[in-house]
Amino acid sequence: MNDLRDIDPAVLRDRYCGALLGLAVGEALGAPAEFLTCDQVIERFGVLTEMVGGGCYNVAPGETTDATEMMLCLAESLVATGGFDPEDILARYVAWFDGRPRDVSLTVRTVILALHSGTSWDLASRRAHEILGSPTAGNGSLMRCAPLALRFAGDDERRTQLSLRESVLTHFDRLAGWACVAFNELLVAAIAGTLLARLPAIAADLRDEDARVADTLLHSVDAEPEEVQSSAFVLDTLETAIWAVVRSTSFEDAVVLAVNLGNDADTVGAVTGALAGALYGAQAIPPRWTAPLLVHERVVDAATRLADLAGIA
Ligand code: MG
Repeated sequence: MNDLRDIDPAVLRDRYCGALLGLAVGEALGAPAEFLTCDQVIERFGVLTEMVGGGCYNVAPGETTDATEMMLCLAESLVATGGFDPEDILARYVAWFDGRPRDVSLTVRTVILALHSGTSWDLASRRAHEILGSPTAGNGSLMRCAPLALRFAGDDERRTQLSLRESVLTHFDRLAGWACVAFNELLVAAIAGTLLARLPAIAADLRDEDARVADTLLHSVDAEPEEVQSSAFVLDTLETAIWAVVRSTSFEDAVVLAVNLGNDADTVGAVTGALAGALYGAQAIPPRWTAPLLVHERVVDAATRLADLAGIA
């Protein structure tokens, strides 16, 4: 159980902001290392610790892409509707896609093109799964799911149920959904200050649903560096994020560790940043990273409103 009532509301609100700001900061920091190998990151940056911009999407320093943008669509839908409205969430993803964003994952792109072709909202991810002909267990729902943890921090059952439902809007593969459930449990535990203490119980609770997710959680805690992979496969991203956070003693160290692995560096940076931000709070995020963040105000506003809806005093 996570008892948030014993924690100072100002501290809780700082951790709420930390989760979403951490996600955005991690994505923006990782963008220049996207698609590079670990060795290429070293060659180009030594250690990437600053918001330099550039990379394959040629972002400005502090510019975020799909993880933060889709997270904001979800957060703002939860705020606007006061509850969970899948059609409203998807409509926001479609409007975002129609604005021609820099980066859209293959799975999300296929779902939205299926919607544009007339497939109904509740069948679109199944169609994408059929069209792609391969498991749709990428990290595209994991990277955006944090607002559900914040909104439903006090309601374990709804948090689990809605994490699954939100994931399946784009990712038909249930593995992606269970990874979102696990991550949102970890986020709430981090906000409660009990991340490491709760992790074994979270893994145990998930074992009957998906043993691969349970094993990933347990393995992430003591994995060797050569065992973690910063890929776009949902379990690799989940494992790397937990690994980076538990091996670090600050927000900065966790995110630097994650993004310097390269590969899917922006998304892995985002997921790591969300977990580290929930644990350490927004005040622990270096101001040199938050200052250039283009969506700073929008992210803080979303986190504040989700705290209001969750009933945090
Ligand atoms: Mg990426």
